[in-house]
Amino acid sequence: MSTNTMKAVFINEQGGVDKLIYREDVPIPTVSPDAVLVKNRVVGVNYIDTYLRSGLYPVSLPFTLGKEGAGDIVQVGSNVKNFKVGDRVVYLGASAYADYSSVSEAAVEKLSDDITYEQGASIGIQALTAWTMVRDGYKVQKGDTILVHAAAGGVGLLLCQMAHHLGATVIGTVSTDEKAELARENGADHTIVYTRENWVERVNEITNGLGCHAVLDGVGKSTFQDSLSSTRRLGTLISFGNASGAVPPIAITCLTAKNLKLMRPQLFNYLATREESQKWWGEVFDLLKKKVIRLHVHKVYDLKDAKQAHIDIESRKTTGKLLIRL
Ligand code: NDP
Repeated sequence: MSTNTMKAVFINEQGGVDKLIYREDVPIPTVSPDAVLVKNRVVGVNYIDTYLRSGLYPVSLPFTLGKEGAGDIVQVGSNVKNFKVGDRVVYLGASAYADYSSVSEAAVEKLSDDITYEQGASIGIQALTAWTMVRDGYKVQKGDTILVHAAAGGVGLLLCQMAHHLGATVIGTVSTDEKAELARENGADHTIVYTRENWVERVNEITNGLGCHAVLDGVGKSTFQDSLSSTRRLGTLISFGNASGAVPPIAITCLTAKNLKLMRPQLFNYLATREESQKWWGEVFDLLKKKVIRLHVHKVYDLKDAKQAHIDIESRKTTGKLLIRL
């Protein structure tokens, strides 16, 4: 590397989009013995980035944004066994809104030659979240009826594709007709435009009053109670995000009327060991290669426009994946 500095986007304090700072003179991270240095090519923008920026989730400051990326290894720590300089890789968890990220070896996966950096950065957090949800959180079976909120979003489109592939009838809620069309193209059998339709009533109609075998809810605060009422007896509600705000504390007795199961997953707990990580990554790579999942990229931004990416994802106007190219 010719210089010791790089471009990066970070915050010194949490808050609105104006707290995002873009600089071109940030020191390139040093690499600890168990880590690799990745030259990022494409990094993913995720809703969680907005929580870490806004203060919904705590961080230690200063904090460089970005939870996933794809690129090339340019340096390896002295203990690193499984990777070498020049490997094309994807990773989760490091400070990715930057030219270079230092990543623990445990968080890195090799990218095969037939998967592009763009695909790699798109399938990390969102596809792993969706796949772990439909294979472990609630094991979707043929014949199930599954409700997906924000069905045209990053995780949402993938959930529609995956649940459809597993043989479920998929109901997707969305805010606009354009999003409804996209959700249908990606596996939703029924779409509900909740800005002009009462989605609880429509779910009741579609399921003959029974409700859904599972409700997959990444919207959070504004949908939680109605998601509970749309889950059928013995069904499962998975509350996996806070796009509308965090779900307030609940009384556990809200589950008794229908013997419901409630889950609040966090992707990183599925990837705690090398074996688990390789299993889930391997399955998701396979889904991509077999074209079970198709990636829908909303927009690719320059790093200096990370602020606009945050404005866009929070505005509800995006569909599918937002990426940053380095
Ligand atoms: P999305 O692309 O789905 O964007 C969020 C969508 O949520 C919007 O497009 C919008 O869709 C909907 N929405 C509903 N209410 C609001 C609101 N008040 N403000 C903003 N958006 C709203 O984002 P992601 O795919 O990146 O993430 C989806 C969810 O999954 C997030 O809650 C995220 O935190 C969660 N997540 C959780 C993980 C975990 O480990 N638990 C991992 C990854 C993601 P519409 O216009 O159709 O209503």
